[in-house]
Amino acid sequence: MSDAAASTVKTVEGGCRCGRVQFQVTGNALVTMACHCTGCQRMTASAYSLSGLYPAEAFAVTQGEPVIGGLHGPTRHFHCDHCKSWLFTRPEGLDAFVNVRSTMLGVTMFAPPFLETYTEEALPWAATGASYSYPKFPPPESFGTLMQAYAESLASG
Ligand SMILES: [Zn+2]
Ligand SMILES: [Zn+2]
Repeated sequence: MSDAAASTVKTVEGGCRCGRVQFQVTGNALVTMACHCTGCQRMTASAYSLSGLYPAEAFAVTQGEPVIGGLHGPTRHFHCDHCKSWLFTRPEGLDAFVNVRSTMLGVTMFAPPFLETYTEEALPWAATGASYSYPKFPPPESFGTLMQAYAESLASG
């Protein structure tokens, strides 16, 4: 991490619609994303989901007990048990990371989605302005490059 990035470390509070579940993230996301897949369309009742990928240690639930909804398999989607807001995802094969729903954070999204996934399932009019687009998910080996490019984009702007 560069000195410029280190100097901007901050804690951001987030929570569900009803407020029973609260959480916080520390520091910037490693990368921000929009996902156009039909699963995200259904779970968000919208055109795409927005998320920020954080190291697991940068994320903490501070109030309430999230429950699993959506996918119950190797990828687990966590929700508020009362209002059913989709809060965060623990993605398959990425135990060191938590994918937090950007719109649950109590600040205006500080950055647009840097990459977008599953454009092959996107609604024809849905545009995000992401810098990188993938028809499905990017290959796992490209995440390092994407995270570095995202960090550089934050540092430069
Ligand atoms: Zn709730
Ligand atoms: Zn999706």
